Amino acid sequence: MKRPLVWQTATVKAVRTETPEVKTLTLSLPGWTPHRPGQHYDVRLTAEDGYSTQRSYSIASEPERTGEIDITVERIADGEVSPYLDDTVVVGDRFEVRGPIGGYFVWDRSIDGPLLLVAGGSGIVPLMAMLRHRAVAGVKDPARLLYSARTNEQIIYGQELETLARKDGLTISYTLTRSQPAGWKGYTRRIDDAMLKEVSGPLGRGALAYICGPTALVEVAADGLERVGFSAERIRTERFGPSGP
Ligand SMILES: Cc1cc2nc3c(=O)[nH]c(=O)nc-3n(C[C@H](O)[C@H](O)[C@H](O)COP(=O)(O)OP(=O)(O)OC[C@H]3O[C@@H](n4cnc5c(N)ncnc54)[C@H](O)[C@@H]3O)c2cc1C
Repeated sequence: MKRPLVWQTATVKAVRTETPEVKTLTLSLPGWTPHRPGQHYDVRLTAEDGYSTQRSYSIASEPERTGEIDITVERIADGEVSPYLDDTVVVGDRFEVRGPIGGYFVWDRSIDGPLLLVAGGSGIVPLMAMLRHRAVAGVKDPARLLYSARTNEQIIYGQELETLARKDGLTISYTLTRSQPAGWKGYTRRIDDAMLKEVSGPLGRGALAYICGPTALVEVAADGLERVGFSAERIRTERFGPSGP
């Protein structure tokens, strides 16, 4: 039987700075249940006067980590919730969450075959849960990640991604759309059909694609993948917000 979704009180166990605009919060959950990578939690903040607001945040951690989850939050300058989570929250703070939520944008070891992941900005978060799970579960099918960020400093989880790429058949391609460090060997433009073809080509037909990021990037990548030969039912998308790299 499906478990009813209830609000529970999360306690912030750790705060880690990922980039100047992005932090990861580790949340201890008294009612933790295993998630499928790609799922999210709703976060509900309630002010002293009773005003309450909620937003969705993808789970960044793998389901093998019991009792806690990581969420990774990009600060939207004029946002209501993300600046609070990034700038005000400290270890020991508590707020309400409910989840895990979502059954479509999910991937786990039970799904065989090559995997193509396309991320824009903080859209890497649910894909990171998939990659962390893939590594822990020892999945050997090939996987490729195309990750678009504005600058090198804005790449989230950069070091861990490099470690993951050194093993288990994961290949990572980056595109830096605004500025690139000296000697940069990756792409330097927004995602386009030629890039999608180059990155996905070695996976062959039958790869399953997951695209996550700002709406515009998701649409360009999903349409582009169809043009380079993916059937629509092999493409899964998740949209985070209106703008992006
Ligand atoms: C299923 C799902 C999973 C998500 N997972 C994550 C995650 O893992 N990490 C994460 O950082 N965010 C994630 N988001 C986005 C998140 O839910 C919020 O929308 C985001 O944090 C902005 O909230 P805010 O209250 O700070 O801004 P708001 O007060 O809601 O918006 C302020 C202004 O910023 C614009 N805006 C809102 N979101 C974005 C955005 N993403 N990019 C640019 N401009 C924006 C709004 O249009 C508005 O003009 C997810 C969204 C969904 C639907």
